[in-house]
Amino acid sequence: MKVALDVDGCVADFYKAVCKKYNQDYNNPVLFWDTPFIVDNWKEIAADTTMWRGLEVMNEIDFDFHCYLTSVPTHIIEHRQFWIDSNNLPNKPLVVSYDKVAVAEEIGLDILIDDKPANVEAWINSGRIAIQYIPYYSKMPIKSPHYTTNFSDIKPMLKHFKNKHNGEKRIKGV
Ligand SMILES: [Mg+2]
Repeated sequence: MKVALDVDGCVADFYKAVCKKYNQDYNNPVLFWDTPFIVDNWKEIAADTTMWRGLEVMNEIDFDFHCYLTSVPTHIIEHRQFWIDSNNLPNKPLVVSYDKVAVAEEIGLDILIDDKPANVEAWINSGRIAIQYIPYYSKMPIKSPHYTTNFSDIKPMLKHFKNKHNGEKRIKGV
């Protein structure tokens, strides 16, 4: 089963960086996706390549996955790759798209790990498995039966899905 891993809000602490930039408290709970100060300042945020290159790593990745699946603006792709390399994160393809389900159809992805409720919901609606990671600041709606606030839960969750998948294949006799 091919696993896609989102970057911001899962491994990169984008939210903390923008809070610091605009003197906001990153420990305030976030109730919905489109935080007004981020939306209002998006052009400036998108242009701040120093910020993108310096994002804090919020979680260590201790499981195998197929690719990063991220929705950064096109001009940020090279800076995202720099960020992955400079933090010694696993060397996996960096796939960039605003339509993650379309990518899943195209390259055959099965499981998505993502913090954005709308992404999780769309992925599940496409008949796939999504693990919703809930970062420390998030009080956003939970859209998947498979969710966690603890990134280290993901490895055993993936193992469970893989075992189940292999078991189903055996039952079908393939
Ligand atoms: Mg994200």
